[in-house]
Amino acid sequence: MGTEIWPIIKLALRKIVGEAAFTNWINPLELTSMDGATAQFSAPTKFIGDWVARNYGDAIKIEFAKQGVNVGRLTFVTGAVAKPIAPTPTTQTSAQRTTTGSTDLPGASLDPRFTFGNFVVGKPNELAHAAARRVAEGGEVSFNPLFLHGGVGLGKTHLMHSIAWEIKRRDPEARVLYLSAEQFMYRFVQALRFKDTISFKEMFRSVDVLMVDDVQFIAGKTSTQEEFFHTFNALIDQGKQVIISGDRAPSDMEHLEDRIKSRLQWGLVVDVHPTDYELRLGILQSKQEVQARHNPRVEMSPGVLEFMAHRISSNVRVLEGALTRLYAFGSLVGRPITLEMAQESLSDILRATDRKVTIDEIIRKVTDHYGVNLTDMLSARRTRSIARPRQVAMFLAKKLTSKSLPEIGRCFGKRDHTTVIHAVKKIEELQSIDNQIAKDVEVLRRMLEG
Ligand code: ADP
Ligand code: MG
Repeated sequence: MGTEIWPIIKLALRKIVGEAAFTNWINPLELTSMDGATAQFSAPTKFIGDWVARNYGDAIKIEFAKQGVNVGRLTFVTGAVAKPIAPTPTTQTSAQRTTTGSTDLPGASLDPRFTFGNFVVGKPNELAHAAARRVAEGGEVSFNPLFLHGGVGLGKTHLMHSIAWEIKRRDPEARVLYLSAEQFMYRFVQALRFKDTISFKEMFRSVDVLMVDDVQFIAGKTSTQEEFFHTFNALIDQGKQVIISGDRAPSDMEHLEDRIKSRLQWGLVVDVHPTDYELRLGILQSKQEVQARHNPRVEMSPGVLEFMAHRISSNVRVLEGALTRLYAFGSLVGRPITLEMAQESLSDILRATDRKVTIDEIIRKVTDHYGVNLTDMLSARRTRSIARPRQVAMFLAKKLTSKSLPEIGRCFGKRDHTTVIHAVKKIEELQSIDNQIAKDVEVLRRMLEG
C-alpha cells in the first residue's frame, strides 16, 4: 500500500475533526512514504507536525486501519516545500515528485509545479511576473535585489521557484540557493550552536543566486537579521543576484533595522496585488484543465468556475483547495460538480470569504466611487446626490457583511435600523429599473469582494 491512500483518509478525517481543524492541521500534511508500519508525513512546520502527532495521531491510525492498512507509527518531517495538492488519489504525491536543488546546497526543495509555464498572468501580478522573468533570464543583473511582496497565497513562492527552475534550465551549473527566512535562521542557529559559523558564511557567500522567502520572519530576530544583512551585502557586492519575498514592502516592516530596510529597496520592489475576478477565473480555468485530465469521469456544470471566481477570496491557495475539494467529492461520490454541490461543499470557504468586507471599507469605496465626502455621507443631509450613495452603501453593508441592521445604522451616523431597511428595499427596487444603479452596485460589489 502506498501513499495514494492519503486523500481518502483525509476526507474521512475531515468529517471527524471538523472543518477548521482540518484546514489548519490535516490538510497541510503530505504523506510522503509508507515504510512497513510507519507512515511518514511532511508538515510545513515542526509545530504542525507535533500538534498533529499529539492530537490526531490516534484518529489517523484508526482511519488507516479502516482502509485495511496497519500503521503503528507516524513520523513528521519538516522543511520540505509547502504541500502541493495531489490532484487525484491515484497520482503520486507531490513530495515524491519534489526534487532537491544542487546537492551541496542546503536549501529547500523546489516544487516542480511552480514554473512560469504554470503561472497565470493577469493585471494584479503582471509586473511581478515580468520582473521575475527578467531576473531569471540572467544577463546583466539589473534588479538587485528583487523584492517581491504581497499577501498570502498570491504567488510569491510560485514566482521564486519559477525563477530558480528557469535559471537552472539555462545554466545547470548555476548555484541557486532557495530557502525560507525561517530556514535561514535555523541554519544560522545551528552554526552558532556547533561553532561552525565560518562554513555557514562560506556556504552562503559561494552561491550565484540567493533566494530568501518570507523575510518578515526574521524581523525582530536581532542576530539573524544581522547575519542576513552581511550575507546579503556580500552577495550584492559580488554582483550575485538576490531575490527576497515578504508579506509587505520593506518600508512597512516593523522591527527590521533601518539600514536593512533601505538596502532591501536598492533594487526593484514590486508588489503582487490581490487577485481580481478575471485573474481568479483564469487561474481556475487552468487548474480545472489539470483536474479534468486526472478525473476524466467527473463532469463540471457550466458556471461553477465563474461562481467560485466571484465568491472566493483573493488567496489563490484557497481557490485551488476549493477546486481540489470539488473534484475529490465528485470522484468519490460519482456525481457531477454542479452549482448546488459547489455551494454546499464550499460553504465554509464561502462564509469565511464573506466576512472579510468591513463597513468602513464599503463606506470608503462608495464615497470614492460617487465622489462625495465622508462627512456628508455620515451626516443627516438628504439631498439626492448624497442620500443615494448612502443607500447604496447601506445596501452593500447588508449584503456583504454579517452585521445586523442596527449595527449598520450605527455606522452611518447613528441612524435607525428602519432607515437601513428602507435603503435596502430602495436599492433592490432601483436595481431592476435603473441601469446606472445596477451597474454601480455591481462594480462596487466586485471591488469590495476583490
Ligand atoms: P505566496 O507565496 O504568495 O503565499 P504561493 O506562491 O505559495 O503564494 O501560491 C499559493 C498557491 O497558489 C500555489 O499553489 C500557487 O501555485 C498558486 N498560484 C498563485 N498565483 C498563481 C498564478 N498566478 N497562477 C497559477 N497558480 C498560482
Ligand atoms: Mg510563500
